[in-house]
Amino acid sequence: VEIKLLPFTKKIVSDLSEFAEKKGVIINLDIPENAVLSVDEKMLHAILKNLIDNAIKYNRENGTVTVSYRELKNEVEISVCDTGIGIPRSHIPFIFERFYRVDRSRSRKLGGTGLGLSIVKLAVEKLNGEVEVESEEGKGTCFRIYLPKR
Ligand code: ATP
Ligand code: MG
Repeated sequence: VEIKLLPFTKKIVSDLSEFAEKKGVIINLDIPENAVLSVDEKMLHAILKNLIDNAIKYNRENGTVTVSYRELKNEVEISVCDTGIGIPRSHIPFIFERFYRVDRSRSRKLGGTGLGLSIVKLAVEKLNGEVEVESEEGKGTCFRIYLPKR
Protein backbone atom coordinates (compact mmCIF):
# COMPACT_ATOMS: atom_id res chain seq x y z
CA VAL A 1 0.00 0.00 0.00
CA GLU A 2 1.03 3.57 -0.62
CA ILE A 3 1.51 5.79 2.38
CA LYS A 4 0.89 9.49 1.94
CA LEU A 5 3.83 10.84 3.88
CA LEU A 6 2.46 14.28 4.77
CA PRO A 7 -0.78 13.18 6.51
CA PHE A 8 1.02 10.16 7.97
CA THR A 9 3.63 12.44 9.59
CA LYS A 10 0.99 14.98 10.68
CA LYS A 11 -0.77 12.26 12.65
CA ILE A 12 2.44 11.30 14.47
CA VAL A 13 3.16 14.97 15.20
CA SER A 14 -0.34 15.48 16.57
CA ASP A 15 0.10 12.46 18.87
CA LEU A 16 3.26 14.13 20.22
CA SER A 17 1.86 17.66 20.29
CA GLU A 18 1.22 17.80 24.02
CA PHE A 19 4.84 16.85 24.69
CA ALA A 20 6.10 19.41 22.17
CA GLU A 21 3.89 22.18 23.53
CA LYS A 22 5.15 21.62 27.06
CA LYS A 23 8.63 22.51 25.83
CA GLY A 24 7.48 25.16 23.41
CA VAL A 25 8.98 23.14 20.57
CA ILE A 26 7.67 23.96 17.09
CA ILE A 27 7.57 21.17 14.49
CA ASN A 28 7.90 22.11 10.82
CA LEU A 29 7.04 19.69 8.05
CA ASP A 30 8.87 20.22 4.78
CA ILE A 31 7.13 17.41 2.93
CA PRO A 32 5.48 17.79 -0.48
CA GLU A 33 1.74 17.12 -0.59
CA ASN A 34 2.21 14.37 -3.19
CA ALA A 35 5.00 12.39 -1.47
CA VAL A 36 4.06 8.70 -1.30
CA LEU A 37 6.03 5.70 -0.07
CA SER A 38 5.27 2.03 -0.52
CA VAL A 39 6.80 0.60 2.63
CA ASP A 40 5.53 -1.28 5.68
CA GLU A 41 3.41 1.19 7.62
CA LYS A 42 4.38 -0.10 11.08
CA MET A 43 8.09 0.20 10.27
CA LEU A 44 7.75 3.74 8.95
CA HIS A 45 5.66 4.67 11.97
CA ALA A 46 8.29 3.29 14.39
CA ILE A 47 11.04 5.23 12.62
CA LEU A 48 9.26 8.59 12.53
CA LYS A 49 7.71 8.33 15.96
CA ASN A 50 10.99 7.55 17.70
CA LEU A 51 13.02 10.15 15.78
CA ILE A 52 10.48 12.94 16.31
CA ASP A 53 10.09 11.95 19.97
CA ASN A 54 13.86 12.24 20.45
CA ALA A 55 13.99 15.51 18.52
CA ILE A 56 11.49 17.01 20.99
CA LYS A 57 12.93 15.35 24.09
CA TYR A 58 16.55 16.39 23.49
CA ASN A 59 15.66 19.83 22.18
CA ARG A 60 16.01 23.10 24.05
CA GLU A 61 13.04 25.10 25.30
CA ASN A 62 11.34 26.82 22.34
CA GLY A 63 13.48 24.91 19.87
CA THR A 64 12.39 23.61 16.51
CA VAL A 65 12.13 20.24 14.79
CA THR A 66 12.09 19.99 11.01
CA VAL A 67 11.01 16.87 9.18
CA SER A 68 11.89 16.96 5.48
CA TYR A 69 11.50 14.72 2.48
CA ARG A 70 13.31 14.76 -0.82
CA GLU A 71 13.83 12.42 -3.72
CA LEU A 72 17.33 11.49 -4.79
CA LYS A 73 18.29 9.45 -7.83
CA ASN A 74 17.73 5.95 -6.49
CA GLU A 75 16.36 6.61 -3.05
CA VAL A 76 14.28 8.94 -0.97
CA GLU A 77 15.61 10.85 2.02
CA ILE A 78 13.62 11.63 5.13
CA SER A 79 15.39 13.78 7.69
CA VAL A 80 14.50 14.78 11.22
CA CYS A 81 16.56 17.73 12.46
CA ASP A 82 16.45 19.47 15.81
CA THR A 83 18.00 22.47 17.55
CA GLY A 84 18.83 20.57 20.71
CA ILE A 85 21.75 19.54 22.87
CA GLY A 86 23.45 17.45 20.22
CA ILE A 87 25.33 14.18 20.69
CA PRO A 88 29.03 14.17 21.58
CA ARG A 89 31.03 12.66 18.72
CA SER A 90 32.46 9.89 20.89
CA HIS A 91 28.95 8.60 21.69
CA ILE A 92 27.63 8.47 18.14
CA PRO A 93 28.90 4.94 17.38
CA PHE A 94 26.83 3.55 20.28
CA ILE A 95 23.49 5.37 20.20
CA PHE A 96 21.77 2.65 18.12
CA GLU A 97 22.61 -0.01 20.72
CA ARG A 98 19.80 -1.20 22.95
CA PHE A 99 19.60 0.67 26.28
CA TYR A 100 22.47 3.01 25.38
CA ARG A 101 21.97 6.58 26.62
CA VAL A 102 24.45 9.43 26.49
CA ASP A 103 23.77 10.90 29.89
CA ARG A 104 22.26 8.48 32.38
CA SER A 105 21.19 10.98 35.03
CA ARG A 106 19.60 13.35 32.55
CA SER A 107 17.97 10.45 30.70
CA ARG A 108 16.45 9.18 33.92
CA LYS A 109 14.77 12.53 34.44
CA LEU A 110 13.51 12.64 30.86
CA GLY A 111 12.12 9.12 30.96
CA GLY A 112 12.34 6.32 28.42
CA THR A 113 14.37 3.14 28.23
CA GLY A 114 17.04 3.69 25.60
CA LEU A 115 15.33 1.43 23.07
CA GLY A 116 14.03 4.01 20.60
CA LEU A 117 17.01 4.22 18.26
CA SER A 118 17.61 0.46 18.32
CA ILE A 119 14.04 0.09 17.03
CA VAL A 120 14.70 2.76 14.39
CA LYS A 121 17.77 0.88 13.21
CA LEU A 122 15.96 -2.46 12.99
CA ALA A 123 13.03 -0.90 11.13
CA VAL A 124 15.31 0.89 8.65
CA GLU A 125 17.15 -2.37 7.98
CA LYS A 126 13.85 -4.18 7.42
CA LEU A 127 13.07 -1.60 4.74
CA ASN A 128 16.52 -2.10 3.15
CA GLY A 129 17.41 1.45 4.00
CA GLU A 130 20.17 3.29 5.78
CA VAL A 131 20.34 5.77 8.61
CA GLU A 132 22.88 8.57 9.10
CA VAL A 133 23.46 10.98 11.97
CA GLU A 134 25.04 14.40 11.95
CA SER A 135 25.28 16.27 15.20
CA GLU A 136 26.91 19.26 16.77
CA GLU A 137 26.99 19.61 20.53
CA GLY A 138 24.89 22.52 21.73
CA LYS A 139 23.56 23.15 18.22
CA GLY A 140 21.47 20.19 17.18
CA THR A 141 21.17 16.87 15.47
CA CYS A 142 19.93 15.54 12.12
CA PHE A 143 18.95 11.95 11.54
CA ARG A 144 18.64 11.06 7.84
CA ILE A 145 16.91 7.97 6.57
CA TYR A 146 17.48 6.69 3.04
CA LEU A 147 14.96 4.29 1.55
CA PRO A 148 15.17 2.64 -1.85
CA LYS A 149 12.79 3.95 -4.51
CA ARG A 150 10.82 1.52 -6.55
P1 ATP B 1 13.40 5.80 24.58
O1 ATP B 1 13.55 6.13 23.12
O2 ATP B 1 13.39 4.34 24.84
O3 ATP B 1 12.28 6.53 25.22
P2 ATP B 1 15.89 7.23 24.76
O4 ATP B 1 15.30 8.36 23.99
O5 ATP B 1 16.83 7.56 25.86
O6 ATP B 1 14.72 6.31 25.35
P3 ATP B 1 17.02 6.32 22.24
O7 ATP B 1 15.89 6.94 21.49
O8 ATP B 1 17.46 4.96 21.82
O9 ATP B 1 16.67 6.22 23.79
O10 ATP B 1 18.27 7.29 22.18
C1 ATP B 1 19.50 6.87 22.79
C2 ATP B 1 20.25 8.07 23.33
O11 ATP B 1 20.74 8.85 22.24
C3 ATP B 1 19.39 9.02 24.16
O12 ATP B 1 19.35 8.63 25.52
C4 ATP B 1 20.13 10.35 23.99
O13 ATP B 1 21.22 10.39 24.90
C5 ATP B 1 20.69 10.23 22.58
N1 ATP B 1 19.84 10.90 21.57
C6 ATP B 1 18.93 10.33 20.74
N2 ATP B 1 18.36 11.23 19.93
C7 ATP B 1 18.92 12.41 20.24
C8 ATP B 1 18.77 13.75 19.73
N3 ATP B 1 17.91 14.04 18.74
N4 ATP B 1 19.54 14.72 20.29
C9 ATP B 1 20.42 14.45 21.28
N5 ATP B 1 20.61 13.21 21.80
C10 ATP B 1 19.88 12.21 21.29
MG1 MG C 1 14.13 7.88 22.25
